[in-house]
Amino acid sequence: MGKDRLKKREHNMLQLYVMLISVLAISMTINLSLSKKVSTTASKPSMDTVYEEVAVSTLSIGHASAKFPVFDLEEVDKYIEAYIQSRLTSIQSTGDERSITYDILHYSQQTLSISFTETGKAAEIMTFDLEKGAPLAFKDLILEEYVSDCLELVAEIASAELKEHNNASLSAKAISKLTAPEVENYSQFIIYNQAIVFNLALNDEKAPYQLALSKQLFNEMLLDVYKAGEHHDDLSGNYEPANIIAERPTKGSSLSIGRKVIALTFDDGPKAGVTDTILDALKDYGAKATFFALGTSSEANAATLKRIAEEGHEIGNHSWDHPKLTSESSSAIAEQIDKTKTLIEQITGTAPTLFRPPYGLFDERITSYVGKEQLILWDIDTLDWKYRNADIVVPATVDSVKEGSIILMHDIYPSSAEAAVDIIQKLSQQGYEFVTVSELLEIKKQRLDASNA
Ligand code: ZN
Repeated sequence: MGKDRLKKREHNMLQLYVMLISVLAISMTINLSLSKKVSTTASKPSMDTVYEEVAVSTLSIGHASAKFPVFDLEEVDKYIEAYIQSRLTSIQSTGDERSITYDILHYSQQTLSISFTETGKAAEIMTFDLEKGAPLAFKDLILEEYVSDCLELVAEIASAELKEHNNASLSAKAISKLTAPEVENYSQFIIYNQAIVFNLALNDEKAPYQLALSKQLFNEMLLDVYKAGEHHDDLSGNYEPANIIAERPTKGSSLSIGRKVIALTFDDGPKAGVTDTILDALKDYGAKATFFALGTSSEANAATLKRIAEEGHEIGNHSWDHPKLTSESSSAIAEQIDKTKTLIEQITGTAPTLFRPPYGLFDERITSYVGKEQLILWDIDTLDWKYRNADIVVPATVDSVKEGSIILMHDIYPSSAEAAVDIIQKLSQQGYEFVTVSELLEIKKQRLDASNA
């Protein structure tokens, strides 16, 4: 149907005018249904720059305006218009001046993929089947009996890929949440001839992570219409994504069981200068660490906190201002945790998942509030806060470290930074690899799974 349809559209300007009239009719309806102060306008459609047969329409409700494509396909156009109107109405109700733009990512005889971007938000991708005239969800592509197998397979590859190419410095926990085999994680995709590209929404500010999977990986699970074929060729040319993954990852490749791993942790910071010395040493040795930050310190040293996140280390929550939480009310406990979490997310874009209670003191209320697995203590206390002397702290720590240890230090004393630099150097020479606490937990979990298998 596709090619005939396109030819027909090129010659049929009359339909455009019919469409224009219908858009105007819609805008008049909106005008009537909203308060009189809100003006709605729709202008004459122009044509899309890549797909010349596609008309571009604009619609505004008050301060909110949108540009969207019109395909001359009744059900698809209706769906898009309804989506645009509902988004505009919602933006208008907030009073913000925001706009919606679109990109046609792929247009073939079989499917159509559009991304809609709202000012300040990550793009949302919609893929339509043009024969059905309906948007597609993950389960619509797969034979019913294979939906969960296919999800597992895609999730396994997504997780391995994100761990290997973790440019967004996501924690192991964030990766497992983002790539878990749930349909919502894989609801945004584009169907090319040879591959399906999934967009994993990292978070609102960052561009989505694109995972291009060859159809070969799950060809027998796909419904016939979505298998490779000319009907999936892009109408603007033969565009196919780059970096198509055509093999399953070898299991556990990124977290090999034989590694000698330890987790360095630094509490009570960040502190400009002291934390920077530690970050410099970690960078020199390709090491990762975890910083359990205080809200007060983070507020006063936001740039340092940001550097920690940008350099791929993990940030945990250590309360707002270091009270003995066991003597606090339940609401004070919640406030200490939540306020710090919000601030860290505001500064770094990522909310901490791990929590370390001040002085290591916790009770049932704290455990149940943060979650048992998220509450992190330590195996080795370097007592750096007590000795304030690298000559004592370094040998004591190096002698007591074992594979899998979580080491406690504080990034607020210059002597601790001095000791950390030495510890990183000495333990690196002994073949230790420094990982974040979330990575350490994941490695321990994989080892347990492997020994139970
Ligand atoms: Zn502390």
